[in-house]
Order: sequence, then C-alpha cells, then structure tokens
Amino acid sequence: MQKTLLIILDGLGDRPIGAFNGKTPLEAASTPNMDKLAAGGACGVMNAMPKNLYPTSEEAHLAVLGYDFVKDYPGRGVLEALGIGLKLKSDELAFRVDFGTVDKDLKLIDARAGVIESVKELCKTIGDVEIDGIKFKIYPSLLYRGVLILSGNSVKNYLKRSKSAVSDTDPHKAGPHKLGVRVLHPKAFGDSKEGKTVARALERYQYLTYEILNEHKINKKRVKKGKLPANFILTRGGGHIKNIESFKDKFGLKSACIAGAPLYKGIGAYLGMKVINVRGATGKLDTNVKAKIKAVQKSLKKNDFVFLHIKGTDMAAEDFGDPKMKKEFIERIDKEFSPLLKLKNVVISVTGDHATPCELKDHSNDVVPVLISREKSKDDVIKFGESECSKGSLGHIYGKDFMKILLGN
Ligand code: ZN
Repeated sequence: MQKTLLIILDGLGDRPIGAFNGKTPLEAASTPNMDKLAAGGACGVMNAMPKNLYPTSEEAHLAVLGYDFVKDYPGRGVLEALGIGLKLKSDELAFRVDFGTVDKDLKLIDARAGVIESVKELCKTIGDVEIDGIKFKIYPSLLYRGVLILSGNSVKNYLKRSKSAVSDTDPHKAGPHKLGVRVLHPKAFGDSKEGKTVARALERYQYLTYEILNEHKINKKRVKKGKLPANFILTRGGGHIKNIESFKDKFGLKSACIAGAPLYKGIGAYLGMKVINVRGATGKLDTNVKAKIKAVQKSLKKNDFVFLHIKGTDMAAEDFGDPKMKKEFIERIDKEFSPLLKLKNVVISVTGDHATPCELKDHSNDVVPVLISREKSKDDVIKFGESECSKGSLGHIYGKDFMKILLGN
C-alpha cells in the first residue's frame, strides 16, 4: 500500500531578498533533494487559512491536516499541555503560560524573563494551589514556558455553558508595544457566576504566585547577577479539549507525528497520532535533523501517514529576521533528506504552514510553496521555490483542500 510523508517546514514562505538577487531564502538555497522531489511530482502554492486571517501555526496546521481550524480548535493551552505529555479531561481548563518579568505595578518588563533557561524549580516550589474550590496545577515546558491546568466544579460548569475559555492576561496582542503595559485582568466570557469565580480565582492565583516568585532564591540570585526575575505567570490560549474525529477515523490512516517543539507534538496527540519522541529534536535551529529523518524511516514501516515538523525555518525568520540563517538552515535540512529519495511506495509532500518573511519577523499571508512527489500529476517545475511552484499543476490551493489533493481523492 502507498504511504504518505508530510513534511511541514514552519514559516517556509518568504519574500524576495535584495542580497539574494531578488530570490527568497528557499530559492537562493541549494536544495538538490527537494528539487528532485519537485521535478518528479506536482507543485503549487498554498494559503493554509483564508487570506483575511492572521495565520497562527496551530490553526494553519489544523487546516492543512484536514480539520476545521475554528470548530476543531481547542485553544493553544490544550495543545501545549498535550505536547508535554499531559492527559487532559474535558472539564479541565488549560492555559499556555510564559514566566515573565513585571514591575511592582505589574507592568510588563519582559514577557520571557530574559529567556530564563528553565522554570522547573519555580513550578515545583509553587506546587498545587487551591483557591475558591478551584485547583491549579502548573507544569514546566521549554525555557520560560509552562502549562497551567484549572479544575473543579466552577470550571466544569463554566466550560459546560461557555464556548470560549478565559481571556489572555499576557498583553501579547499589543504587539511590540506590550512592554510597559500592565498585565491584563482575566475575563470570563458571558455572564455566568461560575465564569466570574474562575476569572477571579485565576487573578488571585497570579497575585499569590507573584509573591512566591519574587521571594524565590532563583529569582533573588538572578536579580543579584543583573538578570530579570521570572516573577509573573502570564496566561494565554485558554481552552479545553474537544471531542473531535481522530485522524484514523477521518482518513482511515494509521499515523505518527515527529516534532521537536511541544506545540506540534500536541497537535499530533490531539488528532490521535502516535507521537514519537526523538532525541536531539529540539524544535529549534540546533535540532538533530538526521535523527528525525531516521525516526521517519522507522515510523513509515508501522504507519500509513507520517507528519514531520521542522521549526527552524520559522525561528530564523521570526526570532532573528535573518535570511542567510534561514537559507543555510534550509540547505542543512535538504542534505539530510537524501535517504527519503530512496523510499519506495511513499508519496512525499513538502510545504509550510504559513510564510514568515524575514523582513516582517512575523507570519504573513504570502503563499507557501507545495510539492507532492506523485508522478501522475507531474508538471514542469524542477526547482522547489515560491515563484517556480506558482507555475505548477496544483495551482493556488487552500489548506482545507490540501489533504484531499495529497491523498489523491
Ligand atoms: Zn508556523
């Protein structure tokens, strides 16, 4: 039986760069392996989501994987929680949290506490907390990130009645101007008594943990060394798990997910994919691509569909705005792709979830190139890149149609 490998290079799409003679980082990169896949198959360009919406990675992934990014989206907190291996019940409320730094007026100094290396000890000290009958459990994730889970009767009753969770307290929507803004008050949606109880308890939890964190020896040490203390738990992406059709039920395919960053593992887990943990898969620019490709080869033996996620392309553009770094990262991964060209009876697709132009250091609605290594719909594209792929036989497609095209029905 024919198997499928979907490779999503996060934030792959970009814009012409002057220093690259008007080529994008992908076009400027030497990518013999992806070029061979493109030359042997069909190409096109894609917007994962409708062009009038900002493409977040999580919603764009759901769309590309054949899900309704509105109806099926459980909130970022849920995906992060699943991504670090937590099991969630439908009556629990999950937030993605960032340990940030605030001043005494709770105005934001840094949303990442100077990119603190770990919040494991801080989470341990905070431990489990109960306020107004609501239980709070906090778990560390990568660097300054964590997950906060709320449970109890008020949470349960609130989630039963309300479609949404509780609003973000991280003022991230204020964009680059968020520094100096006071952290936001959590607000429940709707007018229910339970909602108000949940929001009030969450705010009390934040004040309580602010006191604990300020007095913590790790933070005292950081301040002494001139570093920023991780003294405030900023919440965002609140949500609860939804009962969705599994990938297996939807497509009849046994599937696996190979990713480094927790969010993408969480997406795989949410869809019921087998999440493979790969040593050295960091979800960053230093990720061990070779180990991930080995895991792909192994997983294809046991599964019909493998989803491989690589984050570095997005990081080079969003965190560093560096086209050269993006180009070199693309070249590094392309080199590791050579074993994939020898796979028999595997259709390979390479694409992105959205564009992340280096000049914007942000996601955009520019198209991403798509290749599907299936011979029967072959076109004349011989180089994998934005302009070349726009002349391919797949044309301009949207995420909602992608899986149908990929699976050939
Ligand atoms: Zn992304």
